[in-house]
Parts: sequence; structure tokens; C-alpha cells
Amino acid sequence: MPKANGGPGQRPASEGNRGEGWSDGDHADAQTDGGRMDAPPLVVDVDGTLTRPDAGARARSVDPRAMDALYEWPGTVVVATGKAFPYPVGLCGFVGIPETVVAENGGVVLAEETVRYAGDPEAARAVAADYEDAGYDLGWGPADTVNRWRETEVAVSHDAPEEPLREIAAEHGMTVVDTGYAYHVVSPDVDKAAGLREVADLLGLDPRSFVAVGDSENDAPTFGVAGRSFAVANADETARNAADEVTEGVHADGLLEALELVRQEDI
Ligand SMILES: [Mg+2]
Repeated sequence: MPKANGGPGQRPASEGNRGEGWSDGDHADAQTDGGRMDAPPLVVDVDGTLTRPDAGARARSVDPRAMDALYEWPGTVVVATGKAFPYPVGLCGFVGIPETVVAENGGVVLAEETVRYAGDPEAARAVAADYEDAGYDLGWGPADTVNRWRETEVAVSHDAPEEPLREIAAEHGMTVVDTGYAYHVVSPDVDKAAGLREVADLLGLDPRSFVAVGDSENDAPTFGVAGRSFAVANADETARNAADEVTEGVHADGLLEALELVRQEDI
């Protein structure tokens, strides 16, 4: 049963409870069992997992088959990413599913019209300032759309030097997570698993009921919390070791393979 878009993107996520902005369509009807529908809830990464494997200009572009698969998933879908908060919210809107996200590697979550924060954004910004004072650049160009709307952490380009970033982060009690696409300066107690627990709490679901799919070390904590986990074939070693299963397909092919497997076994 496809989910109807409840239309929460019509107004700020921080405003109030589900009300006039929501339709009482398929989604509301289907959520009568604490968010459970006909399949286990999903928690999926974006970069390296929903994407095309192409190099060059289309690298990191989302495979439309993955968007359809998320829309058609007959259960709750949580988009969990290292990207800044607006990106997964936008993706939910473009896919047509309720805005249910873990953003910024767990620094901020949104579910059921409620936003929750974790981490130490001031410390992350202090690391970025010291890094720049030391003569380095975050590596995103003047507009820096990677960090412009980021609320709880700072991301640094893979083209920027890693070691001085790790040293400066440690001086501020922060840690650096490599998502395979960027270095993220985060609080040590913040990760996608903590974010998943928050979202599950807001949805009234058991985190262990989730099926997780991802590709990098920032997904490994989620794999430890979710009841079942898949690393796509392009995943890094940390993610592969943490996952229950590794797909044969890479990127979105791997996601589709995992979802098909779960559905077949679930029937
Ligand atoms: Mg990823």
C-alpha cells in the first residue's frame, strides 16, 4: 500500500502537532498500529545507498528507482544521513513520504512533527574556526551549501587535510566521522544510532524492529541497533563488518536487492 504524502512540508516542522496541515489519507489510516504497516520499518542512508554508482557529474545523484522503492515501501521509512537537516526533509517531500529523518549524523531528528537536537554545535563551529585559522579550508567553495543550513555539526571536504582536522577536533572534545564523502566533526555521543532511537521513540516503535541499509562507517552504529542490517556492496569495511548481510549490488541496486529480500521473507 503506497503511502500518501501527509503534506507536512507545507509548514515549518517545528510548529505544533499534526493538525490541519495533514490529510487523513492512506498514511494516517495505515499508522493505526504504532507506525507498523505491512512491512518492517526502514532506516536508509542517502549517499552511497540511494545513489547511482556513476562517477563524475552524476555521482551522488539519487537513483529514481530508489525514490520509488521508498515511496512504495508498505511501512515506515526513516531517511538517516550525514547531510544537513533540510536535505533529507526535502528528499522526503520529493519522494512523497512523511518527513521522518535522522540528519547530520544524529545531531537532529524529525518525526511526527517533532524536532529533537543532540550534540554540541558550538564546539563543532569552534573546530571549523580553528581549522580555518590554521590556514585550511573546509573545501566547499564560497557558497558552502554543505554547511550553510547545518545546525549541529560541521562537514569538511575529502579534499581538505584530515590529520589537522582530527587533531583540532580532539582539542575541542569532538570526533571526526568519515562518511566516504566528507569528514564530519561531531560530538562523540552523537551518531545515527542515537538518532534512530529518538525517532523510534517519537514513532512508538522498537528500534530493533527496523531494517537498516547503508554504506559507510556512520551507518555502522545504526546497524548495531536495528534488528536487521544490510551494507550495500560499495560499503566501506567498517559498515561491511557491522552489517548482518552485504548485498551483491552496489548503491541503489544494493538497496533494491535488500528491500526485495525483506519483502519476500516477510510475506
Ligand atoms: Mg552513505
